[in-house]
Amino acid sequence: MNVYDAARMADVLATVDYEPTEDQDSADLIILNTCHIREKAAEKVYSELGRVRRRHANLGNDGDSHTEQTPLIAVAGCVAQAEGDEILRRAPYVDLVFGPQSYHRLPELLTKAQNRRPASRLHAAPDEAILTEFPVESKFDHLPPPRSQGASAFLTVQEGCDKFCSFCVVPYTRGAEFSRPAEDVLADACRLVETGAREVTLLGQNVNAYHGAVGGLAALIRRLAEVEGLDRIRYTTSHPRDMDTSLIRAHAEVPELMPYLHLPIQSGSDKVLDRMNRRHTADDYIKIIDRLRDAVPDIALSSDFIVGHPGETEADFEATLSLVRHVGYAQAYSFKYSPRPGTPAADASDQVPEQVKSDRLEKLQVLLNKHQQRFNQKTVGKTVSVLFDRDGKREHQLVGRSPYMQAVHADCGGAMQTEALRGSIADIEIVSAHANSLGGKLLTPTVSEAVTVMTESAGA
Ligand code: SAH
Ligand code: SF4
Repeated sequence: MNVYDAARMADVLATVDYEPTEDQDSADLIILNTCHIREKAAEKVYSELGRVRRRHANLGNDGDSHTEQTPLIAVAGCVAQAEGDEILRRAPYVDLVFGPQSYHRLPELLTKAQNRRPASRLHAAPDEAILTEFPVESKFDHLPPPRSQGASAFLTVQEGCDKFCSFCVVPYTRGAEFSRPAEDVLADACRLVETGAREVTLLGQNVNAYHGAVGGLAALIRRLAEVEGLDRIRYTTSHPRDMDTSLIRAHAEVPELMPYLHLPIQSGSDKVLDRMNRRHTADDYIKIIDRLRDAVPDIALSSDFIVGHPGETEADFEATLSLVRHVGYAQAYSFKYSPRPGTPAADASDQVPEQVKSDRLEKLQVLLNKHQQRFNQKTVGKTVSVLFDRDGKREHQLVGRSPYMQAVHADCGGAMQTEALRGSIADIEIVSAHANSLGGKLLTPTVSEAVTVMTESAGA
């Protein structure tokens, strides 16, 4: 979601002639787009801000009095939303702090920040530099059409969350649940396809709670599947409670919907799930998995897990391991519980000691990695379609995703072939499996080979 938000900020900034740069030293503006989900992510902001400041001090600016060359420094995202005042207190040289609902106003905010210079930020009233309200009107009504994100694009369809899991800051930082109208989503999808997208991943903190179309997310997916040139559809992140029959049926019936689902359960213990306020049991979850597998036998499954939520005992943790063994995930994300200020779990008296959390996380990750390796290994010898959306590290190497979300690296032979395959979907024979990726061999003769032959014979 932050990758998507950053792309949309670039779209807004393009209207006032900013372009993204790889070279930080030549930047006029540096935006740190931040995540507040766990403490580690939030703390990174301050170390990164310190680094940015020192870098520009080394470039000849003293960091306190701004010169023409000092870039504007902005903090965006959920840390900005949750800790706006704290950011300006700890890093008074920051020019602008804005939450995830305000970035459509960037041009105006930047002009104001620019005008506040060269006076020191220490003299600016903090509220002039902070914008973290939840505006009544949606930012989506004010964003320009999306520019190209390449062959695989993100598209936010839903934001916010009303579920209030005990551990989670999202309902506080991203606000109440909101769905974009289907027509707006379709218009953005068409635009993304026109600019090179073959795959769209629909985003939302609770994407399957989407209600911007009659029939919910399943109906939206069916409409998107009709968009000419849109070959692959994915969505993330889903909540088990919103995994309804129409969505499971869409998995069975819509070929564009990829056979992969990230469906977080967090814990395999009913007691912990209850403490987490997830409002489903492990058995409810397994029944959903069974129905999904009936609908799409080869579906690849992924999940999020939290170990060491307050009150989690060894037996509760064992229940998580046993659920993992039962489901057999293709991949998964796992985290140590991180107390977040303002959430109910942070105030619980039965916090789990740090060392216990670390030990459990390690055990869980060993198991999850074993399953991931096993899943990847099973793909060897098979032919899968891969959407090549980025260049590999080696010359003439491309990297893309299998339908099951595995990263596939393939050598394309020569420059023309690579050019022809970049951004397109090709059949690839999987020849090797690694912990986090697969190695593949090009199977079908490609357009570029035909082109090579034609050019050669034309030349002859
Ligand atoms: N809406 C999604 C999750 C969004 S947050 C859902 O309900 O599943 C992404 C993941 O971060 C969560 O699934 C959870 O596993 C993890 N997470 C959230 N808050 C956390 C916390 N306080 N400590 C550790 N992990 C957390
Ligand atoms: Fe956070 Fe997801 Fe729970 Fe909402 S449903 S509170 S986003 S973990």
